[in-house]
Amino acid sequence: MKKRNRYLELEPGDLLHARKLAARIVASAKKEFGAERVALYLLNPNYGDLEMEASLGVAATVRQKRLVPGQGLAGWVASRGISARADLQKSNWGLGAGGSEMAAPISEGENLMGVLVVGTRRKNFFSEGQESQLQEMALEAARWLGLAWKVAGTSEESRRSAALAEVGAAIGAEETPEAILNRVARESARLSGAKLASIFLLDPKKKELFLEVCLGGSSAYRKQPPLEISDTALGYVVRRGRPISVRDVGSSPQDPHSDRIQKEGLVSVLAVPLVEKKEGIGVLCVATAETRRFPDAEIRLLEGLAGLAAAALGRSRLSGRLDRTEGELRNRERLSSLGMLAAEVAHEVRNPLAVIRMLWHTALRGLQPSEAQAKDLNLIEAKLAQMNGILDRVLNLARSADPEIGAVDGTDLMEEVFLLTRTKLSAARIQVTKKVPPRGKAMIRGDRPQLEQAVLNLVLNAVEAMPKGGELKLGVQPREQNVFLTVQDSGRGMPKEITERLYEPFLSRRPGGTGLGMALVRRTVEAHGGALRVDSQTERGTRVEIRLPSWPSHRG
Ligand code: ADP
Ligand code: MG
Repeated sequence: MKKRNRYLELEPGDLLHARKLAARIVASAKKEFGAERVALYLLNPNYGDLEMEASLGVAATVRQKRLVPGQGLAGWVASRGISARADLQKSNWGLGAGGSEMAAPISEGENLMGVLVVGTRRKNFFSEGQESQLQEMALEAARWLGLAWKVAGTSEESRRSAALAEVGAAIGAEETPEAILNRVARESARLSGAKLASIFLLDPKKKELFLEVCLGGSSAYRKQPPLEISDTALGYVVRRGRPISVRDVGSSPQDPHSDRIQKEGLVSVLAVPLVEKKEGIGVLCVATAETRRFPDAEIRLLEGLAGLAAAALGRSRLSGRLDRTEGELRNRERLSSLGMLAAEVAHEVRNPLAVIRMLWHTALRGLQPSEAQAKDLNLIEAKLAQMNGILDRVLNLARSADPEIGAVDGTDLMEEVFLLTRTKLSAARIQVTKKVPPRGKAMIRGDRPQLEQAVLNLVLNAVEAMPKGGELKLGVQPREQNVFLTVQDSGRGMPKEITERLYEPFLSRRPGGTGLGMALVRRTVEAHGGALRVDSQTERGTRVEIRLPSWPSHRG
């Protein structure tokens, strides 16, 4: 049986850097074949040509040249998908002048990724056996490069989710709207690699856009006069509530903002609307120094950030006359928009992550790592598992809030939660008292798994609030057309400011907390048409009560 990784000498960490991996492949090839020049070309899918990703012993002029398929030995191999050997008479066929070279396609199945080329000054140097060795090496390279790209794509996506979560948390932490707008601009610039990020707001008459926040612009840009919303690209973004991306502002017909961007020496622009209550109130705009396209995922991310900015502005406008219900509404809105967005991102990351974890295990089978390498490998493995865990939690929060309604026995449910937590409870030296009616007496109209999760979250919070042990009271009580579920602890309690903001996602006061637990409880209870009440006193304890509608046949 063939051993895996026969040719490539890799470090596990190489998988995290596609560039390094390419360099390592080149070095392995040089050593294996005693070659004087080696290059790894990658196919650029946007242009269909070959670019040199890594090389050894190759002149700069050759390194910088892009090859179209068919051109040179590498191009010949790329266009036919098979390996080749050649004696070089004329220089521009290979990596250097004269001597001999051979090349093999780097591909997975039909999918061509690039070409691996080795060469020497000597004529007629490579044998047929060596050519097939090169082929195998190229196959190994394809497997590893494919894996490295998947890892890179996934960590990119996780960076995006993390940025959203961060800005979400900042808003939860009640920063000022100015601070939030600045943060949104900063994150947008960072995530899109932009030189400039700006936010324009619509004036009350809805005629002009004023520059409100600007990062990275010259003073001329910062002092720019307002933009009319009719007949301008940014105006269109606000009026229609749609993003616009421009690959090259130089080629766009007369537009005042494009002109200003061009004067900044920038080329590509993406602009997304700030939308509040379905109405455009401003524009978030980023511009890059290099020509680039903005992929859908990135546009959606920026829309998400713009949504958070709009929420912050909406809130500041309301502040002062915010009564309780408005506050709750706002909270719910934020939760659903952020939740939906997070779910979308999480969804997209999850599948590639599953593939990576699978490939990762297959790839490892052939390796015989040193002790230090094994440590690295374990670390990567743990990180992959951690990412998976985060995604699970995000998806759990965002999963459709529509409950699957049935008759749920409240007593049963409480017993089940107790069973799930009893070891944890006794280990934490917590005494439990249950006050529940006989089975069948407290029937709830609801979704069993969702409700169980909600009560479980409450019990876990109670446990965390009693690090030195204490008392936990679990109660179930049918009353009129409702069933009341209560979880009461004798723990540290919380100050009023926290009780008021308990349901905000990302609000957590403990290390390792996600701050999503109570947000989820709230969401479940609301989807059931119930109500949630929290009474808490610092150092005394907390009592959480969930009111749920009873199952119809049990109503008096
Ligand atoms: P997390 O548990 O991840 O921190 P939660 O939304 O479940 O997120 O809770 C948010 C915060 O509310 C907790 O960090 C804690 O400070 C506070 N909290 C929740 N439940 C209790 C409780 N029973 N007693 C004291 N504090 C609590
Ligand atoms: Mg919790």
